[in-house]
Amino acid sequence: MSYLLSTSSSSQYYISYIFIVLSSSIISYRLGKLLENIDQIMSNTSPENIMSACANCGKEGTDVTNTCNKCKSVMYCNAACKKKHRKKHKKQCERRVAELHDEKLFKQPPPLEDCPICMIRLPFLESGKVYMVCCGKMICTGCTHAPVYDDKGNAIAEKTCPFCRAPTPTDDEIIKRYEKRVDLNDATGIYNLGCHYFNGSYGLPQSYARALELYHRAGKLGSIPSYYNIGIAYYNGLGVERDAKKAAHYLEVAAIRGDGLARFNIGIDEANLGNMERALKHWVIAARDGDYRSVQSIKRLYSEGDATKDDYAKALRSYQAYLDEIKSDQRDEAAASDENYKYYESAVYCLPEKLI
Ligand SMILES: [Zn+2]
Ligand SMILES: [Zn+2]
Ligand SMILES: [Zn+2]
Ligand SMILES: [Zn+2]
Repeated sequence: MSYLLSTSSSSQYYISYIFIVLSSSIISYRLGKLLENIDQIMSNTSPENIMSACANCGKEGTDVTNTCNKCKSVMYCNAACKKKHRKKHKKQCERRVAELHDEKLFKQPPPLEDCPICMIRLPFLESGKVYMVCCGKMICTGCTHAPVYDDKGNAIAEKTCPFCRAPTPTDDEIIKRYEKRVDLNDATGIYNLGCHYFNGSYGLPQSYARALELYHRAGKLGSIPSYYNIGIAYYNGLGVERDAKKAAHYLEVAAIRGDGLARFNIGIDEANLGNMERALKHWVIAARDGDYRSVQSIKRLYSEGDATKDDYAKALRSYQAYLDEIKSDQRDEAAASDENYKYYESAVYCLPEKLI
């Protein structure tokens, strides 16, 4: 990954805003008639009523139901027609498969969940959130740092979980608690235990194999960073044979689920291959997911003529929209008291305001 980020300082650019005013017209209709039509349409488009044409022999009918297994975009009347047409269809099929893949890959993923205490979106930066092994909640550092009061309004000195009030576990207790979270099929708990095996922390024997086993299990249960870690393991040959294809596959799975770090890295790979347009698309999505390095990378594309001023301005606005969703006074206080609680990259505020 040799695409280095530009460190050149930004110059002042101005953008113009275009307001599109959509005019609407009022359409009146008879509701009864409309519902009747919808009913008719629905009954005509039920699977047994769809008329298709065989891509090989041209035969039409409701019995032309043998779909191409790969692109699922063409139909045949039988397996023999499908086989006959394979050679002719190959190129079109590959193009359609690639299109379908890109449609999935370049979709803006749903945002990360909210902190269960302050109900504000959790930040992308790991230092802005803490996993609680007692109750399995991911809590923002604003809430973990905030003082806790008893019913008489006195601050409680003993550190407890701000969600379930369990006392902070000792190092010896942590792994036992993780095992309980594993028994409960808690995706993040399983992922974190995988990280502890990966690093050999808390007295666990270091094991890439065990870590990967846990990452796969956590990934299937919905853990987002698990697939990123599996991808990196394949990329570097840690616990598995080095395999660039598998590494790319797992990074994509992570990116589709909303892992900004995975998407940033995919963008780097695309840029290294000279696919600047694809790199830009990835970084625009990652900027909205909260990855500031992607904003910097788009700035570099712009400075080298591979992206437009609008692309760069859009990336800045996307990152700003992300910041607007995650910023809170309580999180700012935590970050000001301890830089380990930093929850976003603030450099964007140093850029000319007109660009944001
Ligand atoms: Zn046919
Ligand atoms: Zn096909
Ligand atoms: Zn919170
Ligand atoms: Zn708890």
